[in-house]
Amino acid sequence: FLSVKGLAKAFGELEVLKHIDLTIKKGNIVTIIGPSGSGKTTLLRCLNALEIPNKGVFSFEDGFTVDFEQKVSKNKIAELRRKSGMVFQAYHLFPHKTALENVTEGPIIVQKRTKQEVIPFAESLLQKVGLEDKMDLYPHQLSGGQQQRVGIARALAIQPELMLFDEPTSALDPELVGEVLKVIKDLAKEGWTMAIVTHELKFAEQVSDIVLFMENGYVVEQGPPEQVLKNPKEERTRQFIQRII
Ligand code: ATP
Repeated sequence: FLSVKGLAKAFGELEVLKHIDLTIKKGNIVTIIGPSGSGKTTLLRCLNALEIPNKGVFSFEDGFTVDFEQKVSKNKIAELRRKSGMVFQAYHLFPHKTALENVTEGPIIVQKRTKQEVIPFAESLLQKVGLEDKMDLYPHQLSGGQQQRVGIARALAIQPELMLFDEPTSALDPELVGEVLKVIKDLAKEGWTMAIVTHELKFAEQVSDIVLFMENGYVVEQGPPEQVLKNPKEERTRQFIQRII
């Protein structure tokens, strides 16, 4: 689906991503693990062009290519953004809009679709994430897990080809983590292509096709979960996993 080569991103002097190569196959789930500050969130934000990389070539299966060493047009950035939907750690819902309005906002404002057409679609997405009886509530009337499920429905609403999740459960109380992970597992079963930054190693083991271990702006190791999580080749991966379990 997407191949990224030589991705680099610095904030001033701080080189956060030094040289990242990665491939995401269509229908695959890639989870990204690694210590705090290793660049996981920045990598995800670069994939969605929320951060503009300094270097790197993105090549999509459909022939769309962006080379960040060249000057990249606004149209190309917009097209790159359209390809993926992002689910944030801290939900980022509009506080003065209902769950339903949060989901319809993107399709109506960004995609210029009609309200009439979008409302039934948004309702079906809220149903998919188990919130059919909460559509008219405001974010402050919802639990963290419910708000995050609205966040997932909202990302799905723009009909992305790739779903990106940035630590989708790390702001949640432990008892609410399961309901959000279940929604993500359901999407996995439907065949969505996804990249997920997570600290939940058990979840990563269950859903991933590929696990990518990052440290210090590099991908140290990537491979199927049985390898990276159970029998890592790299000593640094082994140490990280031992620390976190
Ligand atoms: P965590 O697991 O704690 O979320 P992470 O692996 O996702 O960490 P990033 O959030 O990508 O790491 O951050 C990597 C480094 O980049 C950190 O040192 C952070 O302070 C820095 N950084 C991130 N965003 C910015 C920014 N907009 N401006 C300056 N520095 C930034």
